[in-house]
Amino acid sequence: MVIRDIKFCKSCSEPKLISWKGWPLKNPIPMLSILKGDRCEVCGGLDSLSNHDIKWMNYHGPHSTGLPDYWILVIESQGTWGEPYLDVAVCKKCGGDEVISYFETQSGQADIGCSCETCGTAKSAFRWGRR
Ligand SMILES: [Zn+2]
Ligand SMILES: [Zn+2]
Repeated sequence: MVIRDIKFCKSCSEPKLISWKGWPLKNPIPMLSILKGDRCEVCGGLDSLSNHDIKWMNYHGPHSTGLPDYWILVIESQGTWGEPYLDVAVCKKCGGDEVISYFETQSGQADIGCSCETCGTAKSAFRWGRR
């Protein structure tokens, strides 16, 4: 799969990523500020964070019996659950920014979903099996 390289602002993105928890393709993930000409228009920051380096991780609490309690977003280049920030696009409903996510389970089931902070999350009808 070809993944477009997007540079987000690191200082704006980190607090948003840390505060997210939920379920992939169910709870919308935050849109992040994209660097324009190597600079963030929101905070003026210059440090970048690649969309490839954001991954989902399942969180198991001490009383977990198998299913994760919830999921979190981590800054890591290696991950097994797909690409939360596969791409960014324009939301068809509200015209705002949306994030396209690719989620793959351990058994090879994969799904694409889009997250708009205004409209919520929509799962795409697109499905992949294990290649
Ligand atoms: Zn910024
Ligand atoms: Zn929307």
